[in-house]
Amino acid sequence: MSRKKRYTVKTACPQCGCTAATVLTAEELEKRYGHVPNFDLECGECLARFSAPAAEACPEWDTECRRKR
Ligand SMILES: [Zn+2]
Repeated sequence: MSRKKRYTVKTACPQCGCTAATVLTAEELEKRYGHVPNFDLECGECLARFSAPAAEACPEWDTECRRKR
C-alpha cells in the first residue's frame, strides 16, 4: 500500500496578518479548490475572505495542477 501524498497549504491573511498551515490530500484539495491558479481562502481568525496564488500557498499542488491544465 502506498502512502497518500499530503500537501501543506500555507496562508497569510492580508487583513490581520495571521498565518495558517493546513495539510490536505490531493482529493481534499481537488474538492476544496480544484485545479485553479488562485485559491479562495477564508481567514480563521478574522474571517476575511481573500485569494492567494496557488504557487505561493501550496507550490507542490500548483505543480500537480500544471500537469493537468
Ligand atoms: Zn485574518
